[in-house]
Amino acid sequence: MRFEISKVLDAIEGRVCTDPSLARAVLDLAEVIRYQDIDGGRPASLLRLGMVIDALSRELEEDSVQVYAVVHRALLSDADLTSNERMVVRRWADDGLVEVLDNPGDRMLEVADLLGLPVLSRVRFDGLRGRFPWLVEQAGRVVAPVPGAGGPAFIAHVGGGHAPVAGKRSPTGVKLLARQWRCPESGCALFGGGGGGGAFADLAGGADRSPAGQPPPALRNGVPTCPRHGVRLGDGGPRPRTEVLAVRVGGLVRRRFVLSEEQPVVAGRAPEQDGGIMLGQWLNDEARRWISRGHVRFELRVGEVIVTDVSTNGSGIRPAGSMAEADRIPLAPQQSRVLGENDMVELYPGVQIGRAEELPTGAPFTPTSVMAEAPTMAMRLPRP
Ligand SMILES: [Zn+2]
Repeated sequence: MRFEISKVLDAIEGRVCTDPSLARAVLDLAEVIRYQDIDGGRPASLLRLGMVIDALSRELEEDSVQVYAVVHRALLSDADLTSNERMVVRRWADDGLVEVLDNPGDRMLEVADLLGLPVLSRVRFDGLRGRFPWLVEQAGRVVAPVPGAGGPAFIAHVGGGHAPVAGKRSPTGVKLLARQWRCPESGCALFGGGGGGGAFADLAGGADRSPAGQPPPALRNGVPTCPRHGVRLGDGGPRPRTEVLAVRVGGLVRRRFVLSEEQPVVAGRAPEQDGGIMLGQWLNDEARRWISRGHVRFELRVGEVIVTDVSTNGSGIRPAGSMAEADRIPLAPQQSRVLGENDMVELYPGVQIGRAEELPTGAPFTPTSVMAEAPTMAMRLPRP
């Protein structure tokens, strides 16, 4: 039992991040874990985070969606959580996967404003509508997770819909995210790079994080500030450019990944390279035989995405996403090509990678549940 819960928590760990390019919604962890009416269980449970992430995945019709979680520091010692759950949240904090704050205040809305993300919350935020006009002006920008048939569902605070709707990054957000930032506190998990260092920092994940994936700084009186340590951040120069790509298998987006100028990314059945994108778990036997361990390599150069076939069998380009066979351009092994705005590279029929914003998703497939490993006891839902 304990072992299975640990596996669920590990699965949820892959769905929390503070990367501005990958997070799809922002939430307050202390609020979400206390939605007791969702499962009628313990006063607080970290599994509810997984249930809310599943609901988001269903609404976006996309697998592996990630959320930006703001965490009140008191949660790290909250007696309503199990010791295992507290340990897991502490690990997420140390790795910079979540943002831990002494006083979260309106940080959740600030993150949503800077990144243009929807907010998953039952709180009404009445006093903050002047500062964040989108709270009332954009339907679906804030949705409340509520009990539903087969897991949580969402209800929009404004507009009455159920789909979380993203906005645009605010002009301040665009400015802040054009730079990389340094926290003077050594070992800062959010804006690190100053202290620690070396191979162990790499293993820890947080301390040496890529500047391309840094979270948005907090603004205190107009000054970029570390939300964790409350100190002024140093400007570390321009942030590396990035492009968000998505893997689509069988018509459904399975995961997104960030391509930055700093490092090429290899995708394939089971790439050996660091940061490789493994597709094996979504492939049938024929696709597994065709697709090489490392199949295509992506590089970002002067704003262009270059794709190079590094496979045995080759791949193809679908220009402007066209699925007509006549339009498919073969990409032979070792051949390179600039990936146009709406182009997809096709590793095998039905297995495509392209820019995330241009890739339609929502095939009649059910997204994989992050809770798949959850024992039925923990998943007990209230009777209708
Ligand atoms: Zn810091």
